[in-house]
Amino acid sequence: MRRPLIAGNWKMNGSTALVKAFGEAFSAAKLPASVDVVVIPPFPYLEAARQAFNDTPLKLGAQTLNPQHSGAHTGEVSGGMLQEFGVEYVLVGHSERRQLYRENDEQVFDRLMAALASGLTPILCVGETLEERDADRTMEVVLRQVGYVMARLETAHRTKVIIAYEPVWAIGTGRTATPEQAQEVMAGIRAYQASFDIALAEQLKLLYGGSMNANNAAELLAQPDIDGGLVGGASLKTDDFYAICQSAG
Ligand code: PEP
Repeated sequence: MRRPLIAGNWKMNGSTALVKAFGEAFSAAKLPASVDVVVIPPFPYLEAARQAFNDTPLKLGAQTLNPQHSGAHTGEVSGGMLQEFGVEYVLVGHSERRQLYRENDEQVFDRLMAALASGLTPILCVGETLEERDADRTMEVVLRQVGYVMARLETAHRTKVIIAYEPVWAIGTGRTATPEQAQEVMAGIRAYQASFDIALAEQLKLLYGGSMNANNAAELLAQPDIDGGLVGGASLKTDDFYAICQSAG
């Protein structure tokens, strides 16, 4: 049985006031005990979030990390530093990082390895552009992104990776993949994982991301291969994010 996970990616949004609001809202509101909930604020808010979330079940995530442990990498943050701040999860390969900062599969893999080396759980983000979907290349693109990483991992590491399928055309656009479209790709990712190990494939946690909100979450999360969500815009409002977490319970 896979435990659902809802992760809220604040991207370059938020404030100390929002961190405080989440701390207050989620210490008062009861989250389903069966769901893991992760908030992923920008780096400067991690320590404030750690303190504000103390009396809540919220866990902490980070949006990226540098593959190196330390050294002359101005502007970068390492996995060890994140771990010291109570971070448990880290996004790697988000489409905004791939597109805006030109991260390729090799760099995504290096970041994922750095996350594992620091004891963090990597959430590997994959997904096709609209152009690729229209050209019928969705599965090819997604399995290339998944395969580049998974094929290079030892079994012990493969079990620790969470995969978020996020069609690029659905991120921040208000255009969500239909539950059937999302399920089809998720099932393809799980089948790919089964080519390594059937038991591992059964355990693999798969999140859907792309304009998930309080209205569409339940239908998406009801799909057999969708184990949770990676939520952007709707994770910035306590009520909406809470409603999505409830849908996963
Ligand atoms: C994301 O940033 O991973 C995301 C899914 O964003 P949104 O929910 O805003 O589409």
